[in-house]
Amino acid sequence: MAQRAQRQVEVQGVQIPVLGFGTWMLDGSDCVEAVVDALAIGYRLVDTAEAYGNETEVGLGIDRSGIDRRDAWVTTKVWWEDLDFDACVRSVEQSLERLACEWLDLCLIHWPNEDQPLEEPLRALTRLREDGTVRQIGVSNFTPTLLERARESAPIFCNQVEYHPFLSQEALCRTARERDVLLTAYCPLARGRVSESETLQEIGERHGKSAAQVALRWLVQQPNVAAIPKASDPDHRRKNIEVFDFSLDEGEMKRIHGLDEGLRIVDPAHAPSWERVGA
Ligand code: NAP
Repeated sequence: MAQRAQRQVEVQGVQIPVLGFGTWMLDGSDCVEAVVDALAIGYRLVDTAEAYGNETEVGLGIDRSGIDRRDAWVTTKVWWEDLDFDACVRSVEQSLERLACEWLDLCLIHWPNEDQPLEEPLRALTRLREDGTVRQIGVSNFTPTLLERARESAPIFCNQVEYHPFLSQEALCRTARERDVLLTAYCPLARGRVSESETLQEIGERHGKSAAQVALRWLVQQPNVAAIPKASDPDHRRKNIEVFDFSLDEGEMKRIHGLDEGLRIVDPAHAPSWERVGA
């Protein structure tokens, strides 16, 4: 199982696990135990954020797992209110301290902030990348237009966005392929709603898999796409990495693309204007 879970995707010449462990809403000892378990069963990427308030627990989990730090990919994010140069550098330093890590594998700007020149945090992250504190830098919740702008001033590795069968990200997927940028799908299970889809259930029956496993397979089978499902239930955690022993044919992939209903689950007041996403 561990080998299967370590499937990688190559982006900009860098190998990154195609399936990671999301930790939003995990805290305290539950978070520590979930991270230890996730790493024990084969996950090699853990996604956290300053805003999740669980970086200390994620760090403890990585440490207690006994995994060599070099074998675990750690992603965290800088909050959108900390995007001036100094605040961004400080945020990364504090994240490193809480995670008890010497470096971050990937650091993202959590949300764009239209009141803050984008060049500021990008300059800060680029400097941290140059001194090795951060291996790769990226953005999250960026529209195609904002992503292009960010790419003009920094070596953007990844854009992490909501992506699941009920929300098409066609334009961003195209950019990811054409510009060799990673698109990391958050809410890959639409917070569990994929389980209710009759289409996903039916395709799953054909392969002896659940609707959730089909949704994850559909994501990781797309070029330059990775997924970071969260599961507090250990059984869910196991099932979610068992998606590398089957594949979907072209017709099945197309049918799942057809489930798009524009369902956006994460849409806070500080979100950018999503209209641009389909541009
Ligand atoms: P998600 O992964 O789509 O869904 C998590 C929910 O699905 C939980 O309720 C979980 O239940 C359930 N679940 C997990 N595996 C399942 C399975 N095999 N069958 C049925 N249900 C299953 O949603 P998410 O947690 O919002 O997104 C994943 C990660 O993306 C987050 O944890 C976070 O790391 C990241 N994220 C990033 C942003 C951003 O702005 N960049 C925003 C949101 C999320 P149990 O917990 O009970 O197992």
